[in-house]
Amino acid sequence: MNLEAFQIGTSGMMPLPGRFLTSVLVRRDGDLFLFDSGEGTQVSMKMLNLKWKKISAIFISHMHADHVTGLPGMLMLSSQVDRVEPLYIIGPQKLAEYVESQRRILDMYINYEIKVIPVETGIVYQGDGFSVQAFPLVHTKPCYGYCLVEEKRKGEFFPEKAIELGIPKGKLWGTLQGGTPVTLDDGRVITSDMVMGQARDGRKISYVTDSLYFDHIADYVHDSDILFCEGMFEKALSEEAREKKHMTSYEAGLIACDSNSHMLCLQHYSPRYSDRELKILLKDAQSVFPNTVLTRDRMTFNVPLKD
Ligand SMILES: [Zn+2]
Ligand SMILES: [Zn+2]
Repeated sequence: MNLEAFQIGTSGMMPLPGRFLTSVLVRRDGDLFLFDSGEGTQVSMKMLNLKWKKISAIFISHMHADHVTGLPGMLMLSSQVDRVEPLYIIGPQKLAEYVESQRRILDMYINYEIKVIPVETGIVYQGDGFSVQAFPLVHTKPCYGYCLVEEKRKGEFFPEKAIELGIPKGKLWGTLQGGTPVTLDDGRVITSDMVMGQARDGRKISYVTDSLYFDHIADYVHDSDILFCEGMFEKALSEEAREKKHMTSYEAGLIACDSNSHMLCLQHYSPRYSDRELKILLKDAQSVFPNTVLTRDRMTFNVPLKD
C-alpha cells in the first residue's frame, strides 16, 4: 500500500514567487488528504500533475489567511468531477461559518456534499486501516496539529513453520493468517502466533505549523516517519519567534529529536529569507536533528512499509 506526501507549499504569511503557502497533500492508496489550503494551493497542486480533484478530507490548522484563503478555489474545482462521497473539512470553530459564507456570497457551484467538522483533540477522521488525530498547538488563535496514523499490520506468515507443524497447505493457512486458531485432525490446536511474526507498526505522518514551541508537541508526534514542522525563524530570532507565537527551525529539530521521528521536513518559512538564506534554517535544525530536509515546494516523499 502506497503512502506518499507532497509538500504543496512552504511559505509562511504570504505566497512568494516560487514559494506557495504551507500545505501538505498525503496520498494513501489513491485517497487524498490535504493539510491547510492557503492562497495558490490549487496552482501548486496542478503543477504536480496529480489526479487530485477527489480529495477525501481537508484538515485546517487554524483560521489565519495564509492557511485558508485557498479553500474556496479548491471547493469549486472539486465540482468539476462527479463524486458521491462527501468532502470532509475539519478545523477550528469558525471554519463552518467561513465555508458557509464563501459559498453563499460567491454563489459557488458545489455539486457534492460538504461536511464541516469542528476539530477536537483525538481522532477526527477514521479511514480504512488508519486515522487522523488532532492535538492542540499554542498560537495567536486556536490552532491544531494533525497526525495521520496507520493501524498495525499483521505479522509476516512463515510457511516453513506451518509445514514443520504439519499443517496442510490451503484453507487452514488462510484461517491462521486471519488470526483464527485451527484444530488439526490429530487434535492439536494451532494458533496464529505459532506460524506468524509480531504485528508490524503502521506508518505515521505528522503536520505541525504555527505554534509556540512546547515540549508536549513531541509526545503527540512521537515516532513519525515524516514530521512536517514549521521552522519559520533562525535560532538567533528565538525571542521574535516566541513573541509572534511561532517556532524556530532549531525548535523544530528539538521536536523531531525528542519525538524519535525518522525525518524532519521544515516548512512555513518567513518571507524575510531569500531562497539562498533558507540554509540558515536548515543548519540550525540539523545541529540538533541531522535527518532534516529543507523542504521546497512540490518535493515528494514516499513512506515505505515497515518490516
Ligand atoms: Zn501561518
Ligand atoms: Zn498563523
